[in-house]
Amino acid sequence: MTDTDIIVVGAGPAGSCAAIAAAKAGKRVVLIERGPFPGSKNMYGGVIYPRILDELIPDWFEHAPIQRWIVRRSTMLLSDTGALNIDYRSNAWGQAPYNGATAYRPDFDNWLAQQAVAAGAELICSTTVTGLLRDAQGRINGITTDRPDGDLTASVVIACDGVNSFIAKDAGLYKAVDASNYTLGVKETLSLPKNVIDERFGVRDNQGVDIEILGGTSGVNGGGFIYTNLDTIALGVVLKLPKLSAQKKRPEEIIAELKRHPAIAPLIEGAEVIEYSAHLIPEAGLDMMPKMVADGLLVAGDAAALCLAAGIWLEGVNFAMASGMYAGQSAVQAITAGNTTASGLQSYTKKLNETFVLKDHKKLRKIPHLVLSDRVQHKYPGFVTGIMERMFRVENPHPKPGVRRILREERKKAGISLMDLVRDALTGLKGFG
Ligand SMILES: Cc1cc2nc3c(=O)[nH]c(=O)nc-3n(C[C@H](O)[C@H](O)[C@H](O)COP(=O)(O)OP(=O)(O)OC[C@H]3O[C@@H](n4cnc5c(N)ncnc54)[C@H](O)[C@@H]3O)c2cc1C
Repeated sequence: MTDTDIIVVGAGPAGSCAAIAAAKAGKRVVLIERGPFPGSKNMYGGVIYPRILDELIPDWFEHAPIQRWIVRRSTMLLSDTGALNIDYRSNAWGQAPYNGATAYRPDFDNWLAQQAVAAGAELICSTTVTGLLRDAQGRINGITTDRPDGDLTASVVIACDGVNSFIAKDAGLYKAVDASNYTLGVKETLSLPKNVIDERFGVRDNQGVDIEILGGTSGVNGGGFIYTNLDTIALGVVLKLPKLSAQKKRPEEIIAELKRHPAIAPLIEGAEVIEYSAHLIPEAGLDMMPKMVADGLLVAGDAAALCLAAGIWLEGVNFAMASGMYAGQSAVQAITAGNTTASGLQSYTKKLNETFVLKDHKKLRKIPHLVLSDRVQHKYPGFVTGIMERMFRVENPHPKPGVRRILREERKKAGISLMDLVRDALTGLKGFG
């Protein structure tokens, strides 16, 4: 007889959704979090796409602690002085059932964990899981913690302990760590009055804006983001680790340079930095994913490298919530069937393969590499903004130069061969599905 049916390690979005799914099905669930409360240690850029919650908490949007509903989605390409912004607006996204929202993680994660408690899970905070317990056959059957007498046994352990999962590594599910699979996400939270944010970003009430940025990272491969909360702005950069360590600038200097860019400075003028945070992102998608199932163990969310970081998309929370929910459901199924070995838990990987979780990763497999490649990072922003500059600059008495000439000349100026341009365009077209 085990102490409980299911132990979930980590009360982030993956862990809480695993716990909700399993507790709702009537299983005994213990959800363990190292922070003093769920979300206390968690950071991200700031946008959640919570559609997947419809299945688990149908009226989530009436209760979730949301800052703003995203109605504008922009992709900005920055050269040193220029900017091209592709801006899409849909006011329908500001109404139920909504599309995406900004939220503070301490609020959101805590709220989500309380849904697990309401469903019957036991939440234990300020407790760090320090290792896995195994039975005589080597099958995982529990955890050790940093509490005195803190060992706990269970039929299934679900590892939702985030990027660099200690549990998944302890279980031998990861290959050797490769730094080039990770980016460092660094964020400033900037305080501004709500009416100023509304005016600068062209929104009202609780409408919000999501801006993804390519370029503007001081020559370090990566990207940037700006998201609006009610009376703060989240501004940050995501930096490829080996490229970051190969140069001298510190992440805070790179953020400072982004903030001085002529297209960004007016948006944040007068804002006060009230928070600075940093966290790793598993960026390489399918190429770095571990095995997600072992005897008595499932791995979900960032712990399984399921974050989708594909240029114009940075989605980790929805992938974490979905994979957590499927892990919780599979654990229940396996326990009910009396087979919690790896083969008994295979319905988890089947579910990931059948849904957006792995389908999106497979479809977009080449995109993280393409977007973070030197050419896209260092040549294309100047190439594209150069085209725009020439298209819209009026040089009378000279006539307009014509698009083909501009393209040819700007491509040469940027140092991009025709072959590379065609190759990248095809990879992009194929990669974006
Ligand atoms: C700068 C940045 C910007 C991002 N922007 C976005 C965005 O805008 N939208 C989006 O969807 N995603 C974004 N992401 C990705 C997103 O944050 C993650 O994909 C998501 O948080 C993964 O959720 P998770 O539950 O798997 O892991 P986490 O959120 O990391 O949660 C893991 C939990 O486990 C706990 N834990 C860890 N180890 C232990 C242990 N040994 N014992 C007990 N508890 C433990 C932690 O305290 C934590 O609560 C961003 C990430 C970064 C770094």
